[in-house]
Amino acid sequence: MTSEILHAGLKENFGFEKFRPNQEDIINTILSGQDTLAIMPTGGGKSICFQLPALLLPGITVVISPLIALMKDQVDSLKANGIAACFINSSQTEQEQQFYMDSLKTNIIKLVYIAPESLSYLDVLFNQLTVSLIAIDEAHCISAWGHDFRPAYTNLGYLKKRFPTTPILALTATADKATRTDITKQLNLSNPKTVVASFDRKNLSLEVRPALDRVKQIIDFIETKPDESGIVYCLSRKTTEELAGKLQKKGINAKAYHAGLDSKLRSRTQDDFINDDCQVVCATIAFGMGIDKSNVRWVIHYNLPKNIEGYYQEIGRAGRDGLPSETILFESYSDVIQLQKFASEGLNAEVQLAKLERMKQYADALSCRRKILLSYFGELVTENCGNCDICKNPPRFFDGTVIAQKALSAITRLQEKETLPVIVDFLKGSKNAHIYEHEYQNLKTYGIGADISWYDWNQYLIQLINLGYCEIAFHQHNKILLTPFAKKVLFEGEKVKLTTVVKKTIEKTEIQEK
Ligand code: ADP
Ligand code: ZN
Repeated sequence: MTSEILHAGLKENFGFEKFRPNQEDIINTILSGQDTLAIMPTGGGKSICFQLPALLLPGITVVISPLIALMKDQVDSLKANGIAACFINSSQTEQEQQFYMDSLKTNIIKLVYIAPESLSYLDVLFNQLTVSLIAIDEAHCISAWGHDFRPAYTNLGYLKKRFPTTPILALTATADKATRTDITKQLNLSNPKTVVASFDRKNLSLEVRPALDRVKQIIDFIETKPDESGIVYCLSRKTTEELAGKLQKKGINAKAYHAGLDSKLRSRTQDDFINDDCQVVCATIAFGMGIDKSNVRWVIHYNLPKNIEGYYQEIGRAGRDGLPSETILFESYSDVIQLQKFASEGLNAEVQLAKLERMKQYADALSCRRKILLSYFGELVTENCGNCDICKNPPRFFDGTVIAQKALSAITRLQEKETLPVIVDFLKGSKNAHIYEHEYQNLKTYGIGADISWYDWNQYLIQLINLGYCEIAFHQHNKILLTPFAKKVLFEGEKVKLTTVVKKTIEKTEIQEK
């Protein structure tokens, strides 16, 4: 098909003048009958890649999507463009489902959205239909390697066997290589063309902050931009509600959103946010998949995300209109500990722990964050981005050998039995019950770090952990242990480079914030 015909179809049916990067390439591949794996970031414009071919191909396009809640929106917006589409899923009555099944037979409907769970009982119907294209949205859900595994997706491998000559388009915003390979294998794609769009979203600024007193930091941030809406992602349902409450108390129009809330309330919050009637949504990751709001100006992560794919997808909800947008990630020690526990107890523990480790490395990075992100998605970037906190404010290194020696010998004196806050207490020479109970005040090195602030000690200890001189024993109440490398610093004269930490006046109580 010529490029003119495709452009005319794009303009006529969707009102767009130009294709976004990779859309035309993907569409041409499908139209030539080849299976395609399309990897595009959220907001990259994946839907057009199957919606336009659906109009150009003779038969019906079956779209598999895990997002029952969004099917209606997608179908409504297609209908608004004059395109015959419907969906069939468990949210409908049996009568409704039957009605749509019958209407598929009339050959008028061009696109049908189906949840993977509903696919099997439509199988009978497929005998009577010409299926021209199968689009599998959120295809990473088929892979246990991915971050959003859905068991129902594993049945989709049969589609290729059932329709061997129908092209399959698998779409995802998840790009890590293991998941990609797994998608191809599990869907039985035959010699697919893989199209990977650039994941670079230059308009998103990247920033990581220590999670000390994060509620206040968030309030301060929002108060400087009263007309801009954004999302705060939290790990737990409880946190979303608590945080929304705290923001409301400050007069901020904030709402909580998580999968445990009543579905009516959820869709109202979603609508309010989209219509600019709610400025801030404090949400779990249940919020946002497919939410089409182009002017989200900022995304904050209250907690460290489980992995980089999820993080990237979530920050990708900001600035879809291409205008400058901000993202802030709060990194806290207790989050890392909790996430490590979740990951080690869940499915595929090894893989999930490795992904978490990458996430942590990103948060602790001392070089351009965008380079790290993009390299995770397999893109090589040579220039620093200039739009991340590290580029804007490069860390300055200094000789931290003495500080490291003090910290590591404190850990030794405490017989590797204590957690990070106690070690800081000990170094600072503080006089509290725990110290006195254990008579730590009588040990050598007690109080040798009194000249350094609580905040700085915390940061230095975290840096020492990241440098590999000590480690957290997650299965032993988070005690800090020395690694074999500590010896080098303590006894073999190894020099340690630390970086200066951003100065903030923060009280000790806040450091122990949970
Ligand atoms: P994804 O599924 O990749 O997250 P969508 O398909 O929902 O992205 O598209 C994101 C937004 O971009 C939508 O608002 C869509 O209408 C818009 N869009 C898609 N393709 C184009 C295009 N070629 N020109 C302009 N806008 C587009
Ligand atoms: Zn940068």
